[in-house]
Amino acid sequence: LDPVEFRRQGHMMVDFIADYYQNIDKYPVLSQVDPGYLRKRLPESAPDNPEPIETILQDVQEHIVPGLTHWQSPSFFAYFASNVSIAGFLGEMLSTGFNVVGFNWVSSPAATELESIVMDWLGNLLSLPKSFLFSGNGGGVIHGSTCEAIVCTMAASRDQMLSRIGGDNIGKLVVYGSDQTHSALQKASQIVGINPKNFRAIEATRSTTFALSPESLKLAISSDIEAGLVPLFLCATVGTTATTAVDPLGPLCDVAKHHGMWVHVDAAYAGSACICPEFRHFIDGIEGVDSFSFNAHKWFFTGLDCCCLWVKNPGALISSLSANPEFLRNKPTDSKQVVDYKDWQIALSRRFRAMKLWLVLRSYGVVNLRNFLRSHVKMAKLFEGLVAMDQRFEIVVPRNFSMVPPTTPTSNSFHQNGIEINVEKCTNEVNCKLLEAINASGRVFMTHAMVGGMYVIRCAVGVTQTEEKHIAMAWKVVQEHADVILKNNGD
Ligand code: PLP
Repeated sequence: LDPVEFRRQGHMMVDFIADYYQNIDKYPVLSQVDPGYLRKRLPESAPDNPEPIETILQDVQEHIVPGLTHWQSPSFFAYFASNVSIAGFLGEMLSTGFNVVGFNWVSSPAATELESIVMDWLGNLLSLPKSFLFSGNGGGVIHGSTCEAIVCTMAASRDQMLSRIGGDNIGKLVVYGSDQTHSALQKASQIVGINPKNFRAIEATRSTTFALSPESLKLAISSDIEAGLVPLFLCATVGTTATTAVDPLGPLCDVAKHHGMWVHVDAAYAGSACICPEFRHFIDGIEGVDSFSFNAHKWFFTGLDCCCLWVKNPGALISSLSANPEFLRNKPTDSKQVVDYKDWQIALSRRFRAMKLWLVLRSYGVVNLRNFLRSHVKMAKLFEGLVAMDQRFEIVVPRNFSMVPPTTPTSNSFHQNGIEINVEKCTNEVNCKLLEAINASGRVFMTHAMVGGMYVIRCAVGVTQTEEKHIAMAWKVVQEHADVILKNNGD
């Protein structure tokens, strides 16, 4: 690696990316290419000889950029954002620049120690109980994704339980979530060896805006115990993907703990907001759970990938996930004075992800981070207000954070241009058509969810560069397409 050439190409790359951000709102937010578009444009095999970075960047602009859905566009309102920032970006550069593989302490002490420190900082910001911090015999680790965090915690819970009831009973273990829980839970339970018949997606309660009711959990557990099964793992969600519903942690823990279950909290999107005192109540009851995770790469300006996981009992993770081949033996590990993060995750190798989180926390400071999050919530409120003024739409559940889920009403009739719209026709199909038209415009990108049989259009605010003008524009796009689609539907 020639430092002089690296500097030259690196500057060029930074310019390229800065230009991309400067022009990002000129691109259609949702990529408009057809499947297989890229194979038609690129050669069939890798080049025999080196090509200059200038040519490669030209091809990126010409062939790759059109096939991107622009997640960092200020008009991206789909899924949950995966936002980034200058600090997150630079942290990633530093981490890639050093390219250390910090699987155990000795392989790069700074990588391990910074991760432990940053996870304690963040844990304190979230007012997590001391039992989740290193100082309280718990601790935090950075994974790539929530799915990995759930796999690892579920594996730990499985092994703890099987050591009590015997390995032959693995087929009896039951995993619980609600029908609003992210599919990561089901995937984890498949990986961890839970009998697919023992996966419970309990119907969430409409009256509590699609949260999991402790009563329903209790009933499901009782019926499983009666059938000779063993309740193992509950995944409660703070900020469900469809509607950002919040499962009541305290009462759910009361039920689960009565049966010795492991409780994990998936706050992939909404966890970040809980650093603001006014949102902290959403994780009230956290003291009763065993593990808690949120994705800093969603709504914490950190960039993919960065899932923060805290556990009360690292020993349970370690005993499930550790393997100690001879070639990794070293004195610090033998002294048991250090953290070896390889034993807290699936893979051996690991990136220095703490670097970007450290840069984000230091470059912005807690005050600014809170204000960024609040500004997204404020913009979601603005969108909510705009929807509320249009009688053709209703918001199916109250907004909790920075996501608003409107739909065209199925329960009320309404008038448009003097025509009474037949509500029976305002079906999910119409909402689906409306969303397709909105996204085909390329001006904004939103996605949908099915909630209680209703097709809702989700507007999730969270991109770093989104401003109020983008919210106003997004609503204008929705209205323009609604004018056409709902009118056609009424004719
Ligand atoms: N849990 C929730 C509530 C989510 O919203 C998401 C993704 O949006 C996930 C889990 C999946 O996260 P990951 O892709 O990090 O596994």
